[in-house]
Amino acid sequence: MLIKLTDRIYYMPHNEETDRPILGYIKGDNYSLMVDAGNSKQHVEIFLDEISKLGLPHPVYVILTHSHWDHTYGLSGLNAVSIACRETNDHLEKMSKWEWTDEAMKDRLINGEDIEFCDTMIKREYENRDEILVKTADIVFENGLSIYLGNISCELRKIESSHADDCVVAYIPQEKVIFIGDIICEDLHHGEPVYYRNKLKSLIENMKAIDFETALFGHLQPLTKQEVIAMLEDESNIVI
Ligand SMILES: [Zn+2]
Repeated sequence: MLIKLTDRIYYMPHNEETDRPILGYIKGDNYSLMVDAGNSKQHVEIFLDEISKLGLPHPVYVILTHSHWDHTYGLSGLNAVSIACRETNDHLEKMSKWEWTDEAMKDRLINGEDIEFCDTMIKREYENRDEILVKTADIVFENGLSIYLGNISCELRKIESSHADDCVVAYIPQEKVIFIGDIICEDLHHGEPVYYRNKLKSLIENMKAIDFETALFGHLQPLTKQEVIAMLEDESNIVI
């Protein structure tokens, strides 16, 4: 199901069964842009089917909010120009060399390269893990990038957060909508989930400074700006 959020913005809701995040769609007069590439070819196919059912054009661009598998492994099933920040692309490059045997996956759990939750979800999403093909992006930017889609622009901004070192938001000023990936989550990859005090503080400041009404977080229903700020200000799992 594809939900129309504003005149030019749509999204397909998340699905917790195999940790599929929200996928976004921004319709410009010249080009359409997809936000995040999903966790597999199958995930992307559902999204593209929904797009064509509504008679919307196939996305020309796809942007990645960060490198985590659920937001990026669908890239290989998508015929679109992919855009990521430098750090995301570095992570993809590294993951593109990963093997998907039981042994290799187990080794990554032991050496901390991956976590139990992702390991379980990947096995659930992929009946045949030989199908996993991690691709790098076509266009790589450093801190930010503005994309003019035709009577609407999408601004990509790299913002510091606890969740990962490569988090990017896709802000659409005209519609006061922002796709935030998982930026409001804790760091889930280094033991117990934690927020880092300074990173949480700067994230709250950044969120306050951006003029948006609706935020699309990867794994929940849309949030208001007040809800995003309140969620972050309420967080207590803080170290250093
Ligand atoms: Zn994530």
